[in-house]
Amino acid sequence: VMADEAHLDEDCIFCKILRGEVPCFKVFEDDDILAFMDINPIAEGHALVIPKHHSKDILESPSQWVGKTFAGAKRIAEAVHETLKPDGINIVQANGPGAKQSVLHLHVHIIPRTLDDGLTMNWELVPGDMDDIGGLAERIAANME
Ligand code: 5GP
Ligand code: ZN
Repeated sequence: VMADEAHLDEDCIFCKILRGEVPCFKVFEDDDILAFMDINPIAEGHALVIPKHHSKDILESPSQWVGKTFAGAKRIAEAVHETLKPDGINIVQANGPGAKQSVLHLHVHIIPRTLDDGLTMNWELVPGDMDDIGGLAERIAANME
């Protein structure tokens, strides 16, 4: 795995994988991204896509790197779909402790799903309060950079 050392972190586990100091089950790599299997899979075929650039999360990462990472996630999802023919695929990307992020290097999870897999990332559709929803839309819109 080749990566631009200048943009990697000394102690980050994913940067160690990018430097080849820690092995991985590689699925794909190009100049910008690396995709590899998660070693604690929550589903068969659970894979990760990371940029060859250390930044903590989607908030701190330059949007160019976010774009490259998610474009890579699409390509990996296509290959996972072709390989496993799952009932569905969740794309998950955690930011911060409330989102249970455990590795502080931007990454996208590719999670193949089956209808009966029992994974608890599903929720029921319950209509919200439209005034609350509208108010939040305005508050978030006001903070668009
Ligand atoms: P997070 O919880 O931050 O969204 O996801 C981090 C993911 O990285 C976890 O699913 C965890 O299993 C995976 N992970 C942590 N350390 C390693 C490692 O050394 N190798 C691989 N392949 N995956 C790792
Ligand atoms: Zn890193």
